[in-house]
Amino acid sequence: MYYLSKSKYCKGIQCKDILYYDKHNPEEAEDTANSSVLENGTEVGELARGIFGPYLNVSFNEDLSKMLEETKKYLENENCIVTEASFNYDGNFCSVDILVKKNDKYYIYEVKSSSEVKDIYEDDLSYQVYVLRSLGLNVEGAYLVHINSSYVRGEELELDKLFTIEDLTDLALSKQDEVKEKIKEIKDYMDEDKEPTVDLSDKCNSPYACPYFEFCKRKVGIKENSVFDLSWTRFSKKLKYYNQGIITFEDLLEANNKGSKPALTPNEKLQVEGVVYGLGDSINTDGIKSFLDGLTYPLYLLDFETYMQPIPEIVGTRPNQQIPFQYSLHIINSKEDLKDLDNVTHKEFLAEAGTDPRRAVAEALVRDIPMNVMSMAYNKSFEQGRLTELAAAFPDLSSHLLNIRDNIVDLAEPFQKKNYYNNAMEGKHTIKLVLPALFPNDPELDYHNLDQVHNGGEAMSIFLEMRNMTPEEVEITRSNLLKYCGLDTFAMVKILSKLYEVSEDIKKKVK
Ligand code: SF4
Repeated sequence: MYYLSKSKYCKGIQCKDILYYDKHNPEEAEDTANSSVLENGTEVGELARGIFGPYLNVSFNEDLSKMLEETKKYLENENCIVTEASFNYDGNFCSVDILVKKNDKYYIYEVKSSSEVKDIYEDDLSYQVYVLRSLGLNVEGAYLVHINSSYVRGEELELDKLFTIEDLTDLALSKQDEVKEKIKEIKDYMDEDKEPTVDLSDKCNSPYACPYFEFCKRKVGIKENSVFDLSWTRFSKKLKYYNQGIITFEDLLEANNKGSKPALTPNEKLQVEGVVYGLGDSINTDGIKSFLDGLTYPLYLLDFETYMQPIPEIVGTRPNQQIPFQYSLHIINSKEDLKDLDNVTHKEFLAEAGTDPRRAVAEALVRDIPMNVMSMAYNKSFEQGRLTELAAAFPDLSSHLLNIRDNIVDLAEPFQKKNYYNNAMEGKHTIKLVLPALFPNDPELDYHNLDQVHNGGEAMSIFLEMRNMTPEEVEITRSNLLKYCGLDTFAMVKILSKLYEVSEDIKKKVK
């Protein structure tokens, strides 16, 4: 008989084939969840355990019968709070995050690190209610405990304010027949153990991006450059094409030319035509020139690194607030400097791990960037958001920080407006795609060639891990963080140079 758990039940709700592939083809699963998100989830779960006061914890054991035994022992108490209380009814196992027993009545609390209620959480809770009620327990309440994103931390962390509790009792009770049927359906399917017939549908992307999507696509013969590779398109629109038999970029173009619906947007058309017709660079020189004409020098190219914590450590911050801890700054005094990049100055700042980095970052910024100069970022809204937050946190530096914020231009703009496009950008304008598209095979600009830190997610995790490192490890890690962030703004310098080059404003080829 196939055994179910909370997570298997939820996967089965999304698509039973996920459970089949987990059993037979787990190596085909692609990583769709960031490990730091999972770690944060564990951290939140552990903290939430204390939300109602002292509790008894059932420790994890590979041998689930041990967890069942420990639970039974704890629940001999008339009134108690048990975390990870574990139950098994007819091959349906579940561990309840927080179980409150009061006068022979039971209250189930499921903890999530997200700040919103998703439908799948309701299924998760309903399954737990089903297991406990089937075992004859008198379940009086079923609740979801999740992060309150508007909570602002004070001197003490207030658990009752950090978490929001939603009462989902009525909903969970109303779903009990559905849970029973669904469990039977999943178990029958898994016991049959038959190779699935792939049926791509909206479930492949909801409630989560399925880790087997690429595998399933391959199984139905979908190759590269299909409707599913359209960059600016909602999943539902891609499915609409797919269900009409419009699969390849060639199909898309043919259907679009015949006027079939839904029509391709200009961005989609650019991406599809670029591939189908094998077009090279598409450059709108006037558009690029107009962007470059708006620049003033000296120009300060800025990039922040930030971290986020679901449980805010710093007084005055919210859960998952972006906390800047590092920046890189390349300074170009005049556009002529771009003929020889040795003339470009570089400054940088990296805070000490384990401290509130914001004041140090703000002070360094106002020291490095004067008032009333033009700064540049790639996707400027991110840098502007952080500057706004720093200004609010430090009123004495506020006018200078807001002055920097209000004078930022966006290097992404020419790519967003498709004034410069080629197929390697895959229809997008992120710097991680634009850079190799403009400078293919340039080892100096290849993030893969860096040590330890290759993207913003890694920078965030590694900065937080640094507080537990030895001084020698900290020294190496700091150097790698500086190289990573430095490459972000150096890449901006190179991209800017390239724009001048293609606009023929600087005739001499940039080094
Ligand atoms: S990709 Fe779609 S069909 Fe394949 S396992 Fe995932 S949800 Fe099911």
